[in-house]
Amino acid sequence: MTDTHRLLIGGDLLDASSGETFDSIDPSTGEPFATIARGGKEDAERAVAAARRAFDEGPWPRMKGRERAGYLLKIADLVKQNAAHLAELEARDGGHTIRMAKGADIGMVISTFRVFAEMAAREDDERPQPRSPGSTNWVRYEPIGVCAAVTPWNFPIQMAAWKIAPAIAAGNTVVIKPASYTPLTTIALGRLCMEAGLPEGVVNVLAGPGAAAGESLVASPLVDKVAFTGSTEVGSRIMQLASANITKCTLELGGKSASIVLDDVDVDYALDGALWGVFFHNGQVCSAGTRLLVDRKLHDDFVAELAKRADRIRTGPALDPSSDAGPIVSKTQLETVERYVRIGQEEGADVLAGGERTVIEGHDGGYYFKPTILGGVTNDMKVAREEIFGPVLVVIPFDDEAEAVRIANDSIYGLAGGVWSGDNARAVKVAEQLRTGTVWINDWHMINPRYPFGGYKQSGLGREHGELGYNEYREVKHIHVDLGGPSRARHPWWDLTVPKPEAPAAPGPEAAGRKPGG
Ligand code: NDP
Repeated sequence: MTDTHRLLIGGDLLDASSGETFDSIDPSTGEPFATIARGGKEDAERAVAAARRAFDEGPWPRMKGRERAGYLLKIADLVKQNAAHLAELEARDGGHTIRMAKGADIGMVISTFRVFAEMAAREDDERPQPRSPGSTNWVRYEPIGVCAAVTPWNFPIQMAAWKIAPAIAAGNTVVIKPASYTPLTTIALGRLCMEAGLPEGVVNVLAGPGAAAGESLVASPLVDKVAFTGSTEVGSRIMQLASANITKCTLELGGKSASIVLDDVDVDYALDGALWGVFFHNGQVCSAGTRLLVDRKLHDDFVAELAKRADRIRTGPALDPSSDAGPIVSKTQLETVERYVRIGQEEGADVLAGGERTVIEGHDGGYYFKPTILGGVTNDMKVAREEIFGPVLVVIPFDDEAEAVRIANDSIYGLAGGVWSGDNARAVKVAEQLRTGTVWINDWHMINPRYPFGGYKQSGLGREHGELGYNEYREVKHIHVDLGGPSRARHPWWDLTVPKPEAPAAPGPEAAGRKPGG
């Protein structure tokens, strides 16, 4: 085991005030491999106080956007220089295959910091303002203040970047609480932020349990904005806590996204695309295409071939470059996945591929589950309605586009969707009818920091990424300057409320010092 990974508060690496620690388990082996300081209520208060001080008194919110952008670019460079180490840490902590950690996670972190650096730099540019007669008016964007970020275990370093980059680009300070299963890369990213020279207290990392550290953080009256990614249940709790202080919230929650295969599709392409859509990172992805809706004309052959290809996905230890899929993040999540497959079978679904754990030689204690496809599913079954968050795909046939759209939209969630078709115009028409924040056509998982990402319905509130996501971290101020200047005649509207001053009496002849007629 390595040394304890400590909390980052006010620029210092600290033990928890209780002195407690917890272990991180490597899901590839089921063995503990790192020890982390276990932050609690007192640490949350310390971290928020440090972020508050940095915001109220420090240089960060007062810097020009271009200057802040320089720091974000430096962080991106440091992430690039440390890519191999960060990827390995992510693989061990969260079970990301090393190929995915190198190829997807780290690249996304770098581009997220770079894109938000661009946005910060553009802040200094003059923008056209709406004109109004009689006054000069302009809109000014300002940082919100102290941001509390709470992130999940499925994409730890990416989620940290998605929260930290826009927050600091806009001039805020942050306290981030990573998931307890996977805190290591967030702590490492926090340290790189310090190495880039960020003023102390701008980025603080608070590992610790959601119920203690997390709740204290989001309920703090010193926090101005909460950004959360995770389950809908915890999102709802966070919104409740934040509501006590009317703290602004963005929530990116669950999904049960429909992947619609139309009858004009290139079948070979769509088969691999559907597998990529659901089994990337073992389906532990909020926007995974977990409901596959297939035109009945194609259905039987399509599903038979899909099951064969799913069986070829090689599940193995995260650090093995030949693994296509790693372990499930935790024993608890492995049991959840297993339970859902059993529920599906009890509901009448057929297991067409996988459906069970698998043991990897030399890694017997790891949390491995085979890529699973359930057929004979209808959209009212629990496995079609609830987020499983594991390598489980349900397949549902449809007879026409209208039915596909109806099934796709029949969900409490609305995060993502997708259409596979040989005809882009036809696919776009379907896409426009889906009640989801993102729709991919002939692809999946293409999240781009230049474009907004977030959910309709119970998939969340607000957006991350793009100009919209950036604005979630900014307050908007309208400044109005009356054009007449302070000495002008009073505005006629004031008469609606404020009595006119009494007219001064006309000066009498004595006052004038003259006699009438001169
Ligand atoms: P949670 O939603 O419970 O956890 C997400 C984050 O919230 C973690 O940092 C967690 O801390 C924290 N947290 C938990 N409870 C509170 C609280 N009361 N106040 C403040 N913060 C809190 O996800 P789980 O890890 O428990 O996963 C459960 C299910 O959630 C999964 O099976 C999946 O369905 C869904 N999920 C969805 C994700 C998404 O991206 N939409 C991501 C992850 C999970 P801690 O880790 O210490 O508990």
